[in-house]
Amino acid sequence: MDKGLARLKSALSGKWMKSTAVHESEKLAEVASYAVSRMILSYMRNRYLTNKFAVAEAKLAHSFFEKEGDGALGTISEELGISVKKENQSDRFVTIHGVNGILFVPLPAYLKFSPRSIDYKLVNRSVSNGFVSVNPHERRRLMEEAVRKKAGEIPQLRGGVPDSIKKAAENLKSDLPKIEPQSTVTFKEGDNPPCMEKLLESLKKHENLNHQSRWALAVYLTARGMSVEQIVSLYSNLPDFNEKITKYQVEHIKKRGYSVPSCATLLSYGICCADCRIGSPLNWKGKVWGAV
Ligand code: SF4
Repeated sequence: MDKGLARLKSALSGKWMKSTAVHESEKLAEVASYAVSRMILSYMRNRYLTNKFAVAEAKLAHSFFEKEGDGALGTISEELGISVKKENQSDRFVTIHGVNGILFVPLPAYLKFSPRSIDYKLVNRSVSNGFVSVNPHERRRLMEEAVRKKAGEIPQLRGGVPDSIKKAAENLKSDLPKIEPQSTVTFKEGDNPPCMEKLLESLKKHENLNHQSRWALAVYLTARGMSVEQIVSLYSNLPDFNEKITKYQVEHIKKRGYSVPSCATLLSYGICCADCRIGSPLNWKGKVWGAV
């Protein structure tokens, strides 16, 4: 129980718990602490905390992946639903368990687990015969994403909730952010174009945003007159939020006076999600969603 609680507290502070287990019993306790963390999360039903936990577990898994041999990586990859293959002369693709160089991931698995980043967009990838080529680092990144999704799916606790879980949840509540971050946002429905509204919605749901999305939204909000503090507060919804870095970046955006990216640029980033024909999100005049 103590380890489970510590695991969640580390996740809340944006870190992941380093493994210190040497003996078999210690390793088992670490595995058990993962289960306990999930029980506490299931009882609390707090999306913010669950997303922080999922990101921390994914980063921890990635740190393990980097140390794993090819054979183990292949097995774990299969278990996560990413059956990696390599090119083969006689039979175009064969399942492998670890080969350096270019690897091939089936398109459905790639689409399911690729990070929301411009580098992973299909238009920037080599796709052939239903497979997407990735390098070993990208394969580990897909696996990290698969772990994040898996760790973030918390089933409902069945039966009675043990007192120890309730006590741990009480303990954690005091560590959760006191201010409801989105309370400072005063936009009404229809105030923002669909692309920016979608990013704001993702933030409210504590979902991760890629670098381009964070940057574009911050530039847009700055242009709409939002203060650095308000934007930082809004970004505190992000599961990997770091106040110091976010504040520095938002202040930098304000100081440099970046222009809001055009719709064409946002389209190339994969952020545009409607055909508003206004050239820039700043030209949005409060239309109604159904009309676009
Ligand atoms: S057309 Fe422009 S304003 Fe509309 S969703 Fe796309 S990027 Fe946003």
